[in-house]
Amino acid sequence: MGKFELPGCLALQPAVGKFDARRARRSPSLPTKQSSRSKHAPLEWRIAHVSIGGTNNILVMDPLPKFPLFPNPVDEGVIEKSKVTCDFCNQSRGYMYSTNVYRDSTESVICPWCIADGTGEKHRIQFNDSQVSAGEQYGTEELGIAVWRTPGISALQANYWLACCGRACIYRGAAGESELKGKWKEAASFLVEDLAVSAEESDSFISDMSRDGSPRAYVFQCQNCKKLLAFSDCD
Ligand SMILES: [Zn+2]
Ligand SMILES: [Zn+2]
Repeated sequence: MGKFELPGCLALQPAVGKFDARRARRSPSLPTKQSSRSKHAPLEWRIAHVSIGGTNNILVMDPLPKFPLFPNPVDEGVIEKSKVTCDFCNQSRGYMYSTNVYRDSTESVICPWCIADGTGEKHRIQFNDSQVSAGEQYGTEELGIAVWRTPGISALQANYWLACCGRACIYRGAAGESELKGKWKEAASFLVEDLAVSAEESDSFISDMSRDGSPRAYVFQCQNCKKLLAFSDCD
């Protein structure tokens, strides 16, 4: 780790506790700023880096389903080309979900179509955290989409889904120094302010960020005011 302690990592505790999908489903009451990150997460975080095979000679038959809150899951590496057959629809359609889930049973592979159409939800596979950090509440229906019908972001710890203007934000992607000093500079300001990083430390705080490493930031955009927001974590 860097020369100083990262506020984002101090605030984030490893998720512990038993998976409780019914509780998560029934209780979309969302904590306010900071509290979700400083308290325990309700679900056990299982990293299911499933083996989805090689990418050679794949004939992609079906266009990918659209995820309104996560428009670019292939670019973000959470959906990958694969010849593997989905455990839920028993089809091999050219892509497979390849990152983290919250669940209480053994690992299985799920395709993007089964995430989008709610098959994963029926099997209580949760892709993002039901708690929201950094802000406002948003509607139960949109929370349900973020949690149950949207691919998980590639967070190192919990997959929070940020909110602004009473809506779930759109996830733009993981970010490191170059993104946070370039196209997503506004998100860096949000992060520094949200975590109360001092002016002296802010430059090295951002410089330590790595899109593929740790610590890492996750950038979201408000559907309404278009503001960029972010949270960060580390392994
Ligand atoms: Zn499927
Ligand atoms: Zn907004």
